[in-house]
Amino acid sequence: MSEHKIHDLTRRIMLAMAGGALLGVALNLLFGAEGLLRDYLIDGLLYVVGAVFVAALKMLVVPLVFVSLVSGVTSLGNLSALGRMSIKAILLYLFTTAVAVSIALSLATAVGPGQGFDVGSVDVAFQGKQAPPLAEVFINMVPTNPVAALSEGNMLQIIVFSLLFGVAISLAGERGRHVLSLFSDLDAVIMRMVEIIMRLAPYGVFALIARTFATQGLDLIVPLLAYFLTLTFALGLHALITYPMLLRFLAGLHPLRFLRKMRDPATFAFSTASSGATIPVTMRTVEEKMGVDNSVASFTVPLGATLNMDGTAMMQGVATVFIANVYGVDLSLTQYLMVVLTATLASIGTAAVPGVGLVMLTMVLNQVGLPVEGIALIIGVDRLLDMLRTACNVTGDCAVTCIIAKGEGALDQACFDDPNAGSVEKVKDEQSADVMPGKD
Ligand code: ASP
Repeated sequence: MSEHKIHDLTRRIMLAMAGGALLGVALNLLFGAEGLLRDYLIDGLLYVVGAVFVAALKMLVVPLVFVSLVSGVTSLGNLSALGRMSIKAILLYLFTTAVAVSIALSLATAVGPGQGFDVGSVDVAFQGKQAPPLAEVFINMVPTNPVAALSEGNMLQIIVFSLLFGVAISLAGERGRHVLSLFSDLDAVIMRMVEIIMRLAPYGVFALIARTFATQGLDLIVPLLAYFLTLTFALGLHALITYPMLLRFLAGLHPLRFLRKMRDPATFAFSTASSGATIPVTMRTVEEKMGVDNSVASFTVPLGATLNMDGTAMMQGVATVFIANVYGVDLSLTQYLMVVLTATLASIGTAAVPGVGLVMLTMVLNQVGLPVEGIALIIGVDRLLDMLRTACNVTGDCAVTCIIAKGEGALDQACFDDPNAGSVEKVKDEQSADVMPGKD
């Protein structure tokens, strides 16, 4: 099959994204945000199609993580490999986050967004949300009721329960093998469900992006242009330079091949603004397109979606400098270091909190003594930046996953190097060949 056809779905998703953005901007400029069009098209059709698509993705997250992690851990075979992998994953996730905040702070200090900003133009009322104390996060990682953890989608609790369940299957000998074969079959079935949902992606992505641009407009960005551009540039730098360099130097992997294969998860992350909802696509990409073994991906991807938020941490860095500039506060070197430390640790501390970006920012601002109301200044452009930083977060999850897989001997290099590996079209062709062995 030609490469052209192989990438058909990815191309259609990208086109849908561009088309959605154009339609959204046109709706916003031509018709404003009022009237019948808003009720029936923007808050009607586009809203429903987008929300159904996100719900369908989220529907797969819990069964996929549970089933895939159980079968992944069981096939790891020994506990020391699991321990080593967990330590490597957590350290790498923290390291990339610390690098991310440092890049963001350096750029923001150089550009100086927020200098001369007129605070009077914005209503500065903002109620900060509290993050739970770190001790609580550790205690809450162990579910008192695993069924409740699954039904609430509490990712850290699901990870802990699945790890224990998988280890127990390994220890249960012959009986455990029956359970394992059930779980690995289920894993294959759920992966096919992911492919079905991916085929609907062009419609879902189109609706999500069109609605966002129709409701947001671009006029809010103008007074915040320096903030917006500094953060966008920082995110681009981290996604396109830091990760590729880490892949090259820590794992000897070809950065461009990696970036090309990132198109699907990055587009899903951008349009849904949720690393969690993107887990099915992230998992599918690293396993089937990049050749990472399920024993690594099933653990590092959900963990990364929960703990690793480099893009979000970069937002903390740029926003802190912006708010300090607006309020005329000079940050000392110690305060900069506090920002790096707090933003890095906050990504663990806020793991189970929805709307994580702003909770983390509240923590960072409190830590360096800046007014939390400053968040109100940037909230108007936060949706668009959330989309961008989520794409960066997911790129980080995939990069760290590949690096760990390579170190553990769990990366299929041929698959990583094959530009057509794992495309939905190719999988479909292979499946029809399986069903009809005589067909060529
Ligand atoms: N939306 C981001 C994510 O899901 C988190 C955030 O920045 O709020 O990765």
